[in-house]
Amino acid sequence: MSLVDLPLLPLGKGRDLDAERGVECPGDLPAASDPDLVERARAAKAALGDRLFVLGHHYQRDEVIQFADVTGDSFKLARDAAGRPDAEFIVFCGVHFMAESADILTAPSQQVVLPDLAAGCSMADMARLRQVEDAWDAMGDAGIQDSVVPVTYMNSSADIKAFCGRNGGVVCTSSNADVALDWAFAQKPAGEAKILFLPDQHLGRNTAVLQMGIGLDECVVWDPHLPSGGLTADELAHARMILWKGHCSVHGRFTEDVVDELRAKHPGINILVHPECPHEVVLKADLVGSTEFIIKTIEAAEPGTVWAIGTELNLVKRLADNHPDKTIVFLNRNVCYCSTMNRIDLPHLVWALENLVAGQVVNQITVDPETEADALVALQRMLDLPGKSHRD
Ligand code: SF4
Repeated sequence: MSLVDLPLLPLGKGRDLDAERGVECPGDLPAASDPDLVERARAAKAALGDRLFVLGHHYQRDEVIQFADVTGDSFKLARDAAGRPDAEFIVFCGVHFMAESADILTAPSQQVVLPDLAAGCSMADMARLRQVEDAWDAMGDAGIQDSVVPVTYMNSSADIKAFCGRNGGVVCTSSNADVALDWAFAQKPAGEAKILFLPDQHLGRNTAVLQMGIGLDECVVWDPHLPSGGLTADELAHARMILWKGHCSVHGRFTEDVVDELRAKHPGINILVHPECPHEVVLKADLVGSTEFIIKTIEAAEPGTVWAIGTELNLVKRLADNHPDKTIVFLNRNVCYCSTMNRIDLPHLVWALENLVAGQVVNQITVDPETEADALVALQRMLDLPGKSHRD
């Protein structure tokens, strides 16, 4: 693999491939030990006033979340950004694909800033446009392309969303993946449709099998590093779900044995997991749902109940802190933060905000107009989906 083949999506198109990811902070990045960081962030926010809108994803550190004007999952935050057309600067405390979605859904005059360009997403990086286009061509050679509808999870780069827009596909979130699959299957004659699900095989499999009643044997995994995805013509012909071989580095680490261990230790414990977890873990869980579903479930839970949660650790810790009347534990023996989410720390936030105060927009995330137009087609199809999920 040559250097130019490396998936440097977080750096964006046209960036210097020789630069170390995310260390370019022109001017001074404040020291993490600076005791004035909180005060500096407050002062910069106050100076920018309504010109600034700060978005904080649920997986962000507390030190950053305290400065968010709104918190939420990636889709909610992109919509929140679109709901503030008066804000000149959208500072996105999250990862790269989220900032891209915010740029797509906001006005051209609004500037979206990601405080650290190294805050990418390993899952989004697992599906690159060239790989997906090669897979699409291979499906053409196999004679099945006309039956395939591409569906991409929100956690994907803008050019993968654009690919779906160009090829009759749709974007989905972890809350509406089943509705998106219903829609996608209905786009082709009954019994003929196949879905190419990008980039998270686990969300695709869990939704197809547990919510749509599709057989595990009708799900195949497309490995972009193998010719024809590593699949035979017969396997492709019989598949209904072609799952891209991608996964979340955080949710992929939860395992069945910890579920068994916790059940033995705490009889009556409730296991609550995100659908990005492996199928075997989801099968053993009591409840499965999006980040917003997890938060609402804990908010509604009875005092005294015991929960093990399988999602990112910053969120689990915050839920435990905010609900001292319930016992909340992490569904993993090891520390399991999202390392790229954690790249957004207080020094980077202060650096980005103080530059904005000084009139310099740093780390702006922009999506080119052609990609934006195609991605918007796939996003709009999602927004037009009927509201009712099988899970509601
Ligand atoms: S938690 Fe997983 S899906 Fe979310 S940003 Fe991190 S690697 Fe990507």
